[in-house]
Order: sequence, then C-alpha cells, then structure tokens
Amino acid sequence: MSNRRWEIALHEAGHVVAAEAVGRRLVGAVLLNDRSGRAWVGGEPCTVADAAVVAAGAAAERLADDHNPPDVSPAVGPMPEADDERGRELARSVIREPVATDAEPDEMVLARWACMNRPYHPGLWELRANLAHDRAADLVEANCDRVLEVARVLYATGVFISRKELNHDNDIE
Ligand SMILES: [Zn+2]
Repeated sequence: MSNRRWEIALHEAGHVVAAEAVGRRLVGAVLLNDRSGRAWVGGEPCTVADAAVVAAGAAAERLADDHNPPDVSPAVGPMPEADDERGRELARSVIREPVATDAEPDEMVLARWACMNRPYHPGLWELRANLAHDRAADLVEANCDRVLEVARVLYATGVFISRKELNHDNDIE
C-alpha cells in the first residue's frame, strides 16, 4: 500500500541530500502535511548540478518501492517541531521563502532551466532535461543511505535541518 507521507519525505530528502552532495550549506526541508513539503536548497538553477538538485526529489521518491517507512507515529500539526529554536526558525524560513523548492512543480523549474538561453532548440531542451534527471539518479544512488536517514527524520518529525549548517553557525559564534 502506498504511503504518501513517506513518498513526500523521500522526495524532500532527495532535494536536501543532493544539495548537500553538491556543496550547499543552508539546507533543510519540512512536510507541510501528509501530501506536500518544501525543501530549502537555494534559488533558480543555473548549472547542471543545480538542476540535478531539483530533479532529485522525483528520483528519491522511487526509493519507496524498496524501502518501507519507519515504524513510528508521525508528528502531525500545523507547524513542524524542531528540537531547538534555530531549527524552528529555519523551518519557518523554508515555508516562507520563495526560493524553497516545491513551491512550484519541479518539472516546471526544470523545463525553464532546460530552455534557458536556447530560444528554439527542442532537441537540446530534452537533452538538458535528461541530463539533469540522470545526474539526479546518480546523486540519489550514491547517497541512498543518507536519503533514507533524512527521510526517516522528516517522516517522524516533519522537519529536517542539516546539522552541517547548525555546526557551521556554532563555529562562527
Ligand atoms: Zn520537489
């Protein structure tokens, strides 16, 4: 039986882990409810790596075929709970900010990227879109354990903030 919350948790985890893998620092995600989420992974894609971060949501969702959700009762509520104030603040930013991924459909963002600066080259658009999807599949496969780890946290708590970012902040205080 499909579990939409688990699929969404995997989807957002895919964005987060791909973003970590390409070196982004400020990374996090929330589940808004059992059917939708948002990831904080940066703005409009420029490079192929950026586009792969956008495509990684769909790639990670497919892990639901082979991996079951954690055996926990998910947290439910209007605002996800992080375990500290910095986490809660970031969760609010993820929801509020227009740069949050999944505020619009990934396919639309990818299509815009694939067509960027190529006024009429449908064959090239398709090549670029496929390149992003292939790169995303590679990123998810190479970081599968991390995707599952992040997805389990998202599924259970509704929020995930990269500890790398928190540690970085602690470093400069
Ligand atoms: Zn997405």
